[in-house]
Amino acid sequence: MSNIFSQIGNIDLESAFQNVDQCLELLAAEKWKDGYICRKCGNTNYCFGKTLHSRRCTRCKHDESATANTIFHRCKIPLNEAFKIAYIVCNQPDISTYDLSRMLKIRQMTCWKFKKRISECLDKKGYFDVMEMPNS
Ligand SMILES: [Zn+2]
Repeated sequence: MSNIFSQIGNIDLESAFQNVDQCLELLAAEKWKDGYICRKCGNTNYCFGKTLHSRRCTRCKHDESATANTIFHRCKIPLNEAFKIAYIVCNQPDISTYDLSRMLKIRQMTCWKFKKRISECLDKKGYFDVMEMPNS
């Protein structure tokens, strides 16, 4: 099964996911790949919203960010860091959060929390589905 990373191919973590903008763009492309539909009213016309790569319904004005209702929903770490964790965990599901923490210089507890989301998704879906909302 494909995931958001398969279109990128093998990436060099040192250079990939350097900024949040790039990750938002990737996420928006994946999220709305089958077209935009407003979650509130079902309208399919949008304009660009308040934040980068968000979409705003032309009818009810509901503004949805690229991260809303995805696995990155209310993620507390910067999106590019979250992408790195997701990429690593997809490729090495058994990696310890201590190793992740060391590699990315992110607190171990933060890595643990986000890795848990990814692992739950992988267990449930069998692949990394960005449209899988976390339970918590
Ligand atoms: Zn709407």
